[in-house]
Amino acid sequence: MLLEVKDIVLNYGKIQALHGLTIEVEQGEIVALIGANGAGKTSTMRAVSGVRGVASGSIMFDGHDVTSLRADQRMRQGLVLAPEGRGIFPGMTVVENLEMGAYTRRDRAEVAKDFDRVYDLFPRLGERKKQFGGTMSGGEQQMLAIGRALMSRPKLLLLDEPSMGLAPMLIQQIFSIIKEIAEQGTTILVVEQNAKQALTLANRAYVLETGNIVKTGTGAELLDDTSIREAYLGVA
Ligand code: ATP
Repeated sequence: MLLEVKDIVLNYGKIQALHGLTIEVEQGEIVALIGANGAGKTSTMRAVSGVRGVASGSIMFDGHDVTSLRADQRMRQGLVLAPEGRGIFPGMTVVENLEMGAYTRRDRAEVAKDFDRVYDLFPRLGERKKQFGGTMSGGEQQMLAIGRALMSRPKLLLLDEPSMGLAPMLIQQIFSIIKEIAEQGTTILVVEQNAKQALTLANRAYVLETGNIVKTGTGAELLDDTSIREAYLGVA
């Protein structure tokens, strides 16, 4: 098992956002976490990436207990978050943003390969190398955030709402790029409001409601589940 999250509790002051959440991700899988607004999807990503500490529970990654490690320490171990929306450096160019993703790496020849890989996955970034991140469109910034995360060569890529704010055509595109990233060998945990696309993409998925997992299964099983169809897919 690459990631084992066990009974985590995450609080914001007096508000408990996660009430003992347990999820697992195996090497090579794409696992989706779906849920309504406020269910705790972003909080789960914050806890797993180390952006926010947990009050209790444990997070094992690649055989190590990372529960008390900071986000940058987890990143060095290959647990990397591509944050929701606009988590890029607006005053830096595309190249500089991507370079920031690789700042801990010394293998410059391999880093150069990863620049090429990111430009292959996202040709738009290759066309706009000198453009400042902050002047790019929402969709382009989303691609840049994912590209920057890939530059650290993650073992597990955490994607927080990759389709957020994208036009329908781009949503299709971003999901097929995620599939390609997985096929190239990166394990993925993706949080999405866009349940249909996420379940279609994922090997397995978890359904999150008010800070707890209420259902789990393969993507296909959940796509076929009547209560999921009614609640998340808008069909009976
Ligand atoms: P959305 O899809 O709307 O982004 P989500 O599933 O990602 O929702 P979270 O952002 O994880 O949900 O929020 C879970 C709960 O924690 C919500 O009730 C939210 O109001 C609360 N919460 C999130 N961030 C904070 C914060 N910084 N301070 C206080 N409460 C917070």
